[in-house]
Amino acid sequence: MSQLVQYDAEHCFHPFSNYHDLNNKGARMIERAEGIYVYDENGHEMLDAMSGLWCTNLGYSCEPLVEAATEQLKKLPYYNLFFQTTHPPAAKLSKLLAEITPEGLNHVFFTGSGSECNDTVIRMVRYYWSTLGKEDKRTIISRKNAYHGSTIAGASLGGMSAMHKQTAGVVPDIVHIDQPYGFGECEDGDLQAFGLERARQLEAKILELGEDKVAAFIAEPIQGAGGVIIPPESYWPEIQRICDKYEILLVIDEVICGFGRTGEWFASETYNIRPDLLCMAKGITSGYLPLGGVMVRDNVADVLISANSEFAHGFTYSGHPAACAVAIANINEMQSRNIIAELKETIAPYFAEKWQELSEHPLVGEARVKGMVAAIELVSDKTTNTRYKKELEVGMKCRDNCIKSGLIMRAVGDTMIVSPPLIITKKEIDLLIERAKKALDTTLDSL
Ligand SMILES: *Cc1c(COP(=O)(O)O)cnc(C)c1O
Repeated sequence: MSQLVQYDAEHCFHPFSNYHDLNNKGARMIERAEGIYVYDENGHEMLDAMSGLWCTNLGYSCEPLVEAATEQLKKLPYYNLFFQTTHPPAAKLSKLLAEITPEGLNHVFFTGSGSECNDTVIRMVRYYWSTLGKEDKRTIISRKNAYHGSTIAGASLGGMSAMHKQTAGVVPDIVHIDQPYGFGECEDGDLQAFGLERARQLEAKILELGEDKVAAFIAEPIQGAGGVIIPPESYWPEIQRICDKYEILLVIDEVICGFGRTGEWFASETYNIRPDLLCMAKGITSGYLPLGGVMVRDNVADVLISANSEFAHGFTYSGHPAACAVAIANINEMQSRNIIAELKETIAPYFAEKWQELSEHPLVGEARVKGMVAAIELVSDKTTNTRYKKELEVGMKCRDNCIKSGLIMRAVGDTMIVSPPLIITKKEIDLLIERAKKALDTTLDSL
């Protein structure tokens, strides 16, 4: 253990970590990055197929983002949006976001993170219904295995059982229905029927609770942290139909899917979803500085404006000027470099084709991909899709082998997931697949 790793082990409690392991083994020290590669303190190169935590969409060397932050820090390093003040980056970015987000979303509430977006969602949804005199419309329906952040409210909205166990699932009036996880939970292989069945659980839950009690439904278009769960095509149209039929706000958490991840600016376009509230973070600044935002549809915004009372909510760093300046530069880069069009036409189809090659590997039961998110399911028998025993921790082994082969791929149980930077080239995709195959081979040999 180097001295710095030692300091870290002795003094730093990390997110989502086992402190016993961390103290014994020490953390991996990432020292620098270039393009889509990160380097540890020993100079070991790793192609970062997770874009950090689903966020460094433009890679690690985007100079205009650095310049935007630097210039803004020199001009106005901090001011807030409280009590009727604003600053140029917040004003410019809100206008820009109204332009690039789906039609009808024209107001933004800035936050510092995705979790804060979802806290804001709970506050805003309840403020909306109480303004309309419907105080009883309070319950928010979410899904098992959803990830909506790690504040108490975010974790309660989310459906991660490990988080709920650690007293996070305590915010009242939140209920969860099943997820549309085809590989894991569809028994007869009829994915479209399965998608409809899972969507109709929303209708059943609304009828069970009573329409006058249900405020909103929240979901990620594709569940990210839950294991890149890509819903069957039948799922979203049915969810939209149900939200339209009953008076339920539809909240789309695009913290991962927004800003090009699925091949459109927003996955709401990819899946033809009409969100009332849309959460953004991560890719909004390519991760260079922390920022989040909740977009609000016009009809909801009108009600909040008509309330003509103070919405008693906000964060010190809501719309931080340097973060907003980076977000503006990030959007400008995506537009001037035509990144979304390039993705749609060339990079995403190429990535999909190469990723599918992994399904031929003896360890892989399924390879799935949408835009620039993808997963493979590790199995012991691919004719029956039988899983390995949990204790074997095959996913973890595979992840460690990926790191050795120079690839950052994440394990969610025995599901391996990636979310590569949107600027990845065809050549780099080839390298990603080559390193993934090598890690799969090594993993298989060790079993
Ligand atoms: C990461 C994530 C969040 C939480 O964002 P933070 O910035 O970590 O608070 C919320 N929702 C989704 C879908 C996420 O992936």
